[in-house]
Amino acid sequence: MTDSPVTKGDDAREPRLVLGIDLGTTNSLAAIRAGSEARVLRNQQGEALIPSVVCYQPDGKTSVGSAAKALRLEHPDRTVSSIKRLIGKSFADAEPDVAKLPFAVVASERNLPRVAIGDDRHSPEEVSSLILREVRRTAELAVGRSLHEAVITVPAWFDDTERQATKDAAALAGLDCLRILNEPTAAALAYGIDGGKDGTVLVYDLGGGTFDVSVLRIQDGVFRVLSTAGDTHLGGDDFDALLAQRILATLPERARDSVNEDPYVLQAVNQAAESLKIRLSEAESAELELDLGDRGIAKVTVTRPEFEAAIAPLVQRTLDCVQRAIADAGVGLDAVGDIVLVGGSTRVPLVRSRLESFCGKPPHTHVDPDQAVALGAAIQADVLAGNDRSLLLLDVIPLSLGIETLGGAVQKLILRNSTIPTSVTEEFSTGVDGQTSVDLRIFQGERELAQNCRQLGNFQLAGIPPMPAGLPRIAVTFLVDADGVLRVTAREQRTEVQAGIQVSPSFGLTRDEVRRMMLESLEHAQDDFLAREAIEQRQKAEAMVRGTRQALELAELPPDQIYSVHKAVKALDRLLADNADAKALNAGCEELTKVTATIADDVISSAVTKALREEQENS
Ligand code: ADP
Ligand code: MG
Repeated sequence: MTDSPVTKGDDAREPRLVLGIDLGTTNSLAAIRAGSEARVLRNQQGEALIPSVVCYQPDGKTSVGSAAKALRLEHPDRTVSSIKRLIGKSFADAEPDVAKLPFAVVASERNLPRVAIGDDRHSPEEVSSLILREVRRTAELAVGRSLHEAVITVPAWFDDTERQATKDAAALAGLDCLRILNEPTAAALAYGIDGGKDGTVLVYDLGGGTFDVSVLRIQDGVFRVLSTAGDTHLGGDDFDALLAQRILATLPERARDSVNEDPYVLQAVNQAAESLKIRLSEAESAELELDLGDRGIAKVTVTRPEFEAAIAPLVQRTLDCVQRAIADAGVGLDAVGDIVLVGGSTRVPLVRSRLESFCGKPPHTHVDPDQAVALGAAIQADVLAGNDRSLLLLDVIPLSLGIETLGGAVQKLILRNSTIPTSVTEEFSTGVDGQTSVDLRIFQGERELAQNCRQLGNFQLAGIPPMPAGLPRIAVTFLVDADGVLRVTAREQRTEVQAGIQVSPSFGLTRDEVRRMMLESLEHAQDDFLAREAIEQRQKAEAMVRGTRQALELAELPPDQIYSVHKAVKALDRLLADNADAKALNAGCEELTKVTATIADDVISSAVTKALREEQENS
């Protein structure tokens, strides 16, 4: 099982604290939940957002966060931002992004992107780890404890390599990443959508440079991403660029051209544009006066309607993506129960109002959109830390999964409430000599007998060479992936014969059904125990009858003993034929054991006598 609740904390008496980290393209931050409320962790200046920026200064020092952002004007080619665009990608895949970045990126021998600062080369994992280290340091100062574990979020569309690279970055930062969580899932959690109610959620995430929209399906407490859409080059930076043009337009033409060639001034204009934009989220109009030295003074007033007219086409592009995501999810807009806002740019009033009229219902706005992802990660982190038992159905298997074994009992491989993804392998064998195939029936439920559980599927493992019962070694693996899909495979270890099946996600049970099956298992615990005991007792009796009969053929016993053993075996066989209960079978087995116990001695002494006799004859 994954995520074992081993405490790494320095003090065993303190609750285990696991950080929730939103490692963003523009900004990163951490949150924690201790007790009922999750909260973001702030630095001494009261800031929660840490700009995802690293500056490699010429003197060898590295700065991270706001300090690095401030140095961007001074060292534009030594200041690394938007590293999330490169992490886990090949150089070829990263190339379109690389062209737009203000610092140099080169290909390594293995064709991976490396940030080039002078002669130094830095991997995206390394740069990300510096950001994570800063997030961790800020968090440790805020809680007054050292912290080693985290849940880190990534976009839903990140592939395995991108997720793994994010984990590697965490390890470099001294953090054990307990779980990589999808950003939209985290956001939904932060808004109180905790899997307690089935439904469909639309997550609209407009950040600094990226736009992501996801449709989530929540069923039986499991979150599944039905679809994602978006634009990796659409965000608040584009709003800034439009305002920057407005600012530049106020300069004389000659000065304007020279500004475009000076990255320093361009940066200053962009930063002024961003502050103008942020003020326009609250005010109906905003003014700006920016002294550009000998290029003149840029002076503008922008009204909200002017700003909105400028950005309207960009906002429309996000809505086109929403439409696509809804279509890809195979649901209608009317099926969407909750709309969740994420990302700093959803503070722009036009974004909210357009989205609302497009969807026909208002989005939730009670969580700070900058913080939603980190807060959700903190909730998940707290669950993984084992501090929250009420949220057990989140990303866990609702009912145990197992296979039917000889006699109709269910052997559980994955237990209820195991967190997913998870995988368990157990070895089984055949019950009959020369058996060349086995039927594997997969069951879900808490009861002991297959007949009281729910069959999810079955398949056959054929082509096993004939061997005595018990000799084939059949490894059965149950694997539940992060989306809740169960794959079962069976493999005979000696011959490598293999077969498998995939079972549909979420296993088609409603939450009420899960609850009912749980209650039933408690109610019937006693019956089940007895039924299972009867099966086991029966198997034991059958084995004894078989074994004793074989021994009788081999051993040389005096006729009176053969008679008494035969009698006991026959009695037990009779009980089996009559379907006797466990108690009677147990008595029969004990009787047979008593009789054979004396034979064991006798067989030895007769063998000894025989050996002695032969020796005497030879001498
Ligand atoms: P990311 O997920 O890409 O790291 P964030 O969610 O932190 O990004 O969003 C950053 C963007 O949000 C920036 O473009 C920033 O200017 C914008 N932003 C932050 N606050 C506001 C606001 N009050 N009004 C408009 N835009 C804002
Ligand atoms: Mg974000």
